[in-house]
Amino acid sequence: MAEPGEAVATTVYQRLRRHFGHRDWWPADDPFEIIVGAVLTQNTAWTNVEKALACLRDRQALSLEALLALPEAELAALIRSSGYYNIKAARLRALLAVMREDGGLAGWRKRETAALRRRLLAVKGVGEETADSILLYALERPVFVIDAYTRRIFTRLGLISGKESYHQLASWFEQQLRADLDLFQDFHAQIVVLGNSVCRPTPRCDRCPLAEECPQAEG
Ligand code: SF4
Repeated sequence: MAEPGEAVATTVYQRLRRHFGHRDWWPADDPFEIIVGAVLTQNTAWTNVEKALACLRDRQALSLEALLALPEAELAALIRSSGYYNIKAARLRALLAVMREDGGLAGWRKRETAALRRRLLAVKGVGEETADSILLYALERPVFVIDAYTRRIFTRLGLISGKESYHQLASWFEQQLRADLDLFQDFHAQIVVLGNSVCRPTPRCDRCPLAEECPQAEG
């Protein structure tokens, strides 16, 4: 890993921000939808999640009590488009049961970030990326989300090996950046748009705003 003192992450962010503009992201309407979406988006594209959210909305099930009142088989059918729907229905119900036990969103808002993170991670099927996405976008805590795009892009840039643990990578970013909610939200969103549209498995380096600095740049 490049030394955090070099603050290379900040330079990468500034280049992405200049190119893509502020992303105003996560693509959901309210904190509850963000929490549901964070589970549904595991291992699938957001377009599939949108269809599932639309089905839940049509069924008027996009609230804590309404969603928990649905039989698991019906919930699974409604979120079918997001893939792994039986597993995700169980995960969603487990997470929302904990949320209700804790007093809903209001209860979670009162909890300190590290304690809430541990609480989320204790739910079966909630990994670090899902927990941190919920913390960053639904609960507005400045934690850095690491996903597959982050690993791919920063490995290709030669700044990490790609084999670091989630915690090592999150710390690497957090040491270089001021703990600012908008910065963390927007930086992750920039990484997603680059990973999704430019630095894909087959990269489109000719349209990449990082190409000048990238040792892997093609063409
Ligand atoms: S120049 Fe190519 S390999 Fe490097 S970050 Fe951009 S798209 Fe990825």
